[in-house]
Amino acid sequence: MADSRVAIVTGAARGIGAATAKRLAADGFAVAVIDLDEKSCADTVSAIEADGGKALAVGCDVSDAEQVQAAVDRIATELGGPTVLVNNAGVIRDNMLFKMTEDDWDTVMGVHLRGAFLMSRAVQKHMVEAKWGRIVNLSSTSALGNRGQANYSTAKAGLQGLTKTLAIELGKFGVTANAIAPGFIATDMTRATAERVGMEFEEFTKAAAASIPVARVGQPEDIANTVSFFVDERSGFVSGQVIYVAGGPKA
Ligand code: NAP
Repeated sequence: MADSRVAIVTGAARGIGAATAKRLAADGFAVAVIDLDEKSCADTVSAIEADGGKALAVGCDVSDAEQVQAAVDRIATELGGPTVLVNNAGVIRDNMLFKMTEDDWDTVMGVHLRGAFLMSRAVQKHMVEAKWGRIVNLSSTSALGNRGQANYSTAKAGLQGLTKTLAIELGKFGVTANAIAPGFIATDMTRATAERVGMEFEEFTKAAAASIPVARVGQPEDIANTVSFFVDERSGFVSGQVIYVAGGPKA
């Protein structure tokens, strides 16, 4: 069953997306590895192939409607109709409100919100046809509010609303939609935040770990594992939910 299914992971050249693409391949899915630049997907694709899995590198800006449709059409032709979608692509343009530019705002909304909308709209057709599907959106603990992230926290809260509405609209077609709200995960994104606040990454993660109940920061595989749970055949009664994966109950 599962090995004939096709999953798309956006922003999968590195970080959480790369770990998720590898995990879904290990779970038996053929995986379309989407990122801005097709060449940047090579490492993820070769890691999957080296483990005996199937993957396809696809260059696509998820905020561009034409590129999204072309990418989904290509994936359907080359791998088969996609029935799993992980909306993971993301950017940060952090700044305090008084310094935040319109471009900072629009870029973040474009990738996270417009991107998840466009990808979900393009892929739902294949899910509805298959009468089965799984959508997982990457939210964040920042959805609860975070200093310097008016744009990002708004987008991540918006993704929770999108998730719940997709769950309601698509449920009758066997499609679930859920969101994961990670806390601090060690990736290039948190490296960039450390740089912005002028701290060494090691010092930054140590400080973060000190306020996390499980006394460590998260790794991309922690999130990949949660994606794997939502995507599992046996998780079909779990829909419209947000799981905070943050090493404790609070952000
Ligand atoms: P990352 O290491 O920065 O990776 C994000 C990936 O998304 C990059 O490969 C990036 O490509 C790609 N991307 C950016 N804009 C894109 C676009 N328009 N179209 C297609 N791909 C695009 O980030 P991460 O830490 O793994 O985060 C993954 C997701 O988890 C994001 O949605 C993030 O907001 C969320 N998250 C992360 C954390 C954390 O602590 N790391 C916490 C909560 C939520 P380029 O390299 O070419 O820019």
